[in-house]
Amino acid sequence: MMARRIAFVSEHASPVALLGGADAGGQNVYVDEVSRGLARLGYLVDVFTRRDSAGTPSIVAWAPGVRVVNLDAGPPAVLSKDALWPWMPAFRDALLRFAAGEGIRYDLLHGNFWMSGWVACEVGERTGAPVVQIFHATGVTKKREQGPADTSPDDRIGVERAVIHRAERLIAQCPAEERELVCDYDAMAHKIALIPSAVDTERYRPEDQREARHRIGVPQDGQVVVYVGRMLPRKDVRNVVRALGRLNQALPREEMPMLLAVGGDSPHPDPIATPEIGELARLADELGVRDLVRFVGRRQPDELRWYYSAGDVAVTTPWYEPFGLTPLEAMACARPVVGSDVGGISYTVVDGETGFLVPPREPAALADRLRLVLGDSEGRARLGEAARHRVLDHFTWPVVAERTAALYESLLGERASPIRGRSAGLLSAPAGNTREESVA
Ligand code: UDP
Repeated sequence: MMARRIAFVSEHASPVALLGGADAGGQNVYVDEVSRGLARLGYLVDVFTRRDSAGTPSIVAWAPGVRVVNLDAGPPAVLSKDALWPWMPAFRDALLRFAAGEGIRYDLLHGNFWMSGWVACEVGERTGAPVVQIFHATGVTKKREQGPADTSPDDRIGVERAVIHRAERLIAQCPAEERELVCDYDAMAHKIALIPSAVDTERYRPEDQREARHRIGVPQDGQVVVYVGRMLPRKDVRNVVRALGRLNQALPREEMPMLLAVGGDSPHPDPIATPEIGELARLADELGVRDLVRFVGRRQPDELRWYYSAGDVAVTTPWYEPFGLTPLEAMACARPVVGSDVGGISYTVVDGETGFLVPPREPAALADRLRLVLGDSEGRARLGEAARHRVLDHFTWPVVAERTAALYESLLGERASPIRGRSAGLLSAPAGNTREESVA
């Protein structure tokens, strides 16, 4: 049989961005890992993303069986993702032109995020290909959690509803997302497949703590709490700094851990490139713990295991988290995680077994758990071991690729049978509306 051709649509998150200093997050990792995993299973995958610099080639041979196609839609410059919606009709048309020019008929479209979901449905409508959609984050939750700080276009939630209605299958990354799709968007449960994301357990593996600290220049004595992730208000690293402030009132100075904070928009911690770093530094100063916080800046995925392994415990207490790859990465490095009991974290971290779950926005609860974990080296090692095992058992990328392929095949098999209806075009095109910088 001819290899099946898959169009992976991801307007703002390209795997290529993982190589650079851009503020790439979990969606970039997902698109990279799943497209390569599918190609290893024999699919030919084209990842469609938006050209954000004039010098970028149109087609990048990314991995065997995977091409990244940079489509012209809007100015060839980095734009906030909240400014991209008006360019989506151009993105759709460029995708259709590319397919026609190459003489390709995609067997299936896999949309990532709401805007690419719209593009995938539009292309599916015109070509007859079925659509699988994964949102990575939903507008209703973002609005609820961020209120006026949510700069998503006004059309977002309506478009999400239409995509949910129109796509043949929806991927939810955790039970919380499945609930959101059903309760907030009236998605039909039978359309949803629960396929959690994963971690590369070769790349993220435990290293000797002494060696790790030596390598990254962290003192051998004293304990280290490590945060890895984007520096955004919603990740609430401020909550971690506040917890450190509380510990500082309870513990003698020599027993205080340091906070190693990895992430940001540049390789050096720069409060201009990453304003949240400035906010955190000010807060730490105010709470008398500035000398205990070390900002590192952005690091490449291949280096991160050294940072996780230098830590005694990893921490992540966002207000909400659609999935959250960093807790899994820390777990793969055999580090316990203290994380917010929200979204995907409630699913990946098992409270009391691989770390602890705490309510978000409660520095006292976080300080309490950190004290517990840091005060018990044997318990900590047990949690860390269990964490690595949980990842190996449940959260690896080859399994995600296999489950995604199984989803594709069941859908394509169903469509091969003659009795089947198609939903009518339900999607309206974006009206020109752009907004200011995104916060998430
Ligand atoms: N990351 C990175 N370098 C950094 C900080 C983060 O490569 O300096 C990666 C991190 O390892 C993870 C991703 O960015 O794979 C963040 O994904 P996550 O799902 O945790 O959060 P998101 O950024 O999507 O909200």
